[in-house]
Amino acid sequence: MRALEPIYQPMLLAGAPADADRVIEVRNPFSGALVGTVPQAEPRQIRAAFKAAARFRPKLSRRERSDILLGTARAIASDQDRLAQLITAETGLCLRDSLHETRRACDVWSFAAHALIQNDGEIYPGDIGGNPHQRRIFSMRTPLAGVIAAITPFNHPLNLVSHKLAPAIATNNRVVLKPSEQTPLTALALGRILREQGLPEGMLSIVTGTPHDLGDCVFTDEDAELVTFTGSVRVGHQIAERAGYRRLVLELGGNDPFIVLADADVDRAAHLAVQGAVRHSGQRCTAVKRALVVEELADHFAERALHHMRQLSTGDPSDPSVDLGTVISEDAAQLIARRVAGAVAAGARLLLGGEPRGAFCPPTLLDHVSPACELVAEETFGPVLPIIRCNNDVDEIVMMANATKFGLSAAICSNRLDHVTRLIEGLAVGSVNVWEVPGYRTELTPFGGIKQSGLGHKEGILEAMRSFTQVKTYSLPWP
Ligand code: NAD
Repeated sequence: MRALEPIYQPMLLAGAPADADRVIEVRNPFSGALVGTVPQAEPRQIRAAFKAAARFRPKLSRRERSDILLGTARAIASDQDRLAQLITAETGLCLRDSLHETRRACDVWSFAAHALIQNDGEIYPGDIGGNPHQRRIFSMRTPLAGVIAAITPFNHPLNLVSHKLAPAIATNNRVVLKPSEQTPLTALALGRILREQGLPEGMLSIVTGTPHDLGDCVFTDEDAELVTFTGSVRVGHQIAERAGYRRLVLELGGNDPFIVLADADVDRAAHLAVQGAVRHSGQRCTAVKRALVVEELADHFAERALHHMRQLSTGDPSDPSVDLGTVISEDAAQLIARRVAGAVAAGARLLLGGEPRGAFCPPTLLDHVSPACELVAEETFGPVLPIIRCNNDVDEIVMMANATKFGLSAAICSNRLDHVTRLIEGLAVGSVNVWEVPGYRTELTPFGGIKQSGLGHKEGILEAMRSFTQVKTYSLPWP
């Protein structure tokens, strides 16, 4: 496929294009070619973005907001090929994964448009309790008094940005967004679509820059009432320590187990495990990070997983027939390779894999992996499926699954309802899928982790709309 011409994209400061003295280069992880440049914002520009947002009071009716959201969904759908090419160019994800991302983003915008037309208030009777009053109490939801600061990671440059902006616009809030410096071009392309849909200028700023240059200013600004952050545990913890007295929503890393019990259809389970481990180059917070397989099935499971992994086509991510693109950078591929080597040194058998080439990390399968090694104790963000063999004992499997600091999602392959229900109850995670990859969800359903995988409200359109509003109650003397 023809390479895209390098583009320069200005930031959006209170809806208007803005430059800075310096720029950040965004390079294609596969080819190394320059995809484009964006401004390296200065802290004073971040301050100006929050000030402008704080001054602005959105007055959009529900109908007007719904029109903007639906128009955005339609614009993404009609421009999905170009957007997918841009995502592939700046992330190295294969075009199939990028197209999947655009369809998810369309859902986010259209579900938010539909969610906001529902009544979000409640009514309570007053004549209850020991001191009854002949009154009625009503609740209503209002936008935040302050500004939302949103920070997003590189791995879903359209969908996760949409998960911050769509519920914020649906609830008439103002946002200052800082997308990942590794993938800012897609976020700015979405910002342009929102302008074209008539989003009032004061409702959105998209500022670009590296954490090194921006420091804490995005999440410590005096006008930031709520910080919503999606990214790594390490940065999430830094934000939690420094953000001070304001609302926090932290959606952090995962280490999702894929559990295969003794009654499972092994081929079906192995196919799902491979899909869950390698799709999106294994760079989903909910990717399969370790398969916990009962010993009696493990040989067969490893053989079928190897078969399915060998079917994957690799190559230029912009080729629509390719199943697996690169990871985000050569450094990321090297880190994965070091962890794979560490697991092998600790006794694991490498069934498929090899040396990375630049940012391309080959699909990698390991068996007999020790739960203690870094590859599976930490979050390894790449197309790797480590098999950990375990005893056929549900309680022991729960303990193994829960034995990391993470608690995002999990998957189970079994038709034994008694075992499945014990696992669902015992797993310390935010969501569990039976006979599906751990990452399955709709954009509407609540989503988020526990333990070190998340803090505060969940995401998913409905939960995010709740977290971006205040509940106010009032009572009237007419019961
Ligand atoms: P990251 O934490 O390195 O960066 C995320 C964002 O934080 C980026 O915009 C980055 O510029 C910014 N940032 C980095 N250091 C900062 C600092 N010191 N101060 C302020 N901002 C800073 O994460 P990443 O590598 O971009 O993304 C991958 C991580 O995101 C993985 O751990 C993945 O599991 C996680 N993730 C979680 C979810 C979820 O919903 N739970 C979804 C997607 C990704």
